[in-house]
Amino acid sequence: MTVANRVAVVTGSGRGIGAETAKQLAHHGAKVVVSDVTKELTEATVSAICDAGGDAIGVAADVSQRSQVESLFSSALKEYGRIDILINNAGIIRDNLVYKMTDEDFDAVLNVHLKGTFLCSQAAQKIMVPNHYGRIINFSSTSALGNRGQMNYSAAKAGIQGMTKTLAIELGRYGITCNAVAPGFIETDMTKATATRMGVDFEELKTLAAKEAAVLRVGVPADVAYAVLFFAADESSFITGQVLYVKGGV
Ligand code: NAP
Repeated sequence: MTVANRVAVVTGSGRGIGAETAKQLAHHGAKVVVSDVTKELTEATVSAICDAGGDAIGVAADVSQRSQVESLFSSALKEYGRIDILINNAGIIRDNLVYKMTDEDFDAVLNVHLKGTFLCSQAAQKIMVPNHYGRIINFSSTSALGNRGQMNYSAAKAGIQGMTKTLAIELGRYGITCNAVAPGFIETDMTKATATRMGVDFEELKTLAAKEAAVLRVGVPADVAYAVLFFAADESSFITGQVLYVKGGV
């Protein structure tokens, strides 16, 4: 699966699944623009990539802000001269049962996931269309199918599936594919925060989640990164508009 010498932008890659995806892309020869809300947050991922002999830069951008997204893509273009792969990974949770969910909780989640995916994809396609090449990989979730306490997040993650298919239809003629991964329970700070909110021990929550998976374990960031790599590869040019559940089960 070839990503060598491709230039990839990975949003929210200071930690978690995004950080692992950035490292895997670099390991396979891609040049990576590691982006997160602040430049400091990108430093650990950039150092890990460069220490391993890879090529990466860190650029700050809040994906929900148009001006910051535009400046992210112009910095990436200035450094590497092209953008071939966009990974729309940045995400937050603001879980609450519907009767307690505030406007702020709702808007924040939709802004980062839905508006962020819109703004980054729009900026990326502007660069990819003239090159007649692109790979856009979005982040949905098993929560797209509904999850207690996640009315905001499940709406965003279901919306991302619609966006993925629409981008695939609109951009296919320009050599650009757009697919989504939809992870189940992955061990990151995000699921640790869920355990804290529920008032349960993280190890206990993992054990419960593992019992629900066919493979009897929870996921780790690398499980998702490999699926992203599959969609990002040159060879995946006939696969578009698809949603791949990465959940260790059916
Ligand atoms: P994570 O560990 O919380 O990492 C998310 C990253 O996104 C953080 O570095 C965060 O920065 C960054 N971010 C948040 N808001 C941002 C913004 N406005 N602009 C740019 N970056 C922003 O989460 P994760 O578990 O790796 O999740 C990665 C993706 O997978 C998300 O889209 C999530 O919804 C999805 N997902 C995760 C799971 C799971 O079980 N973990 C399951 C399904 C889907 P800060 O450090 O500043 O917060």
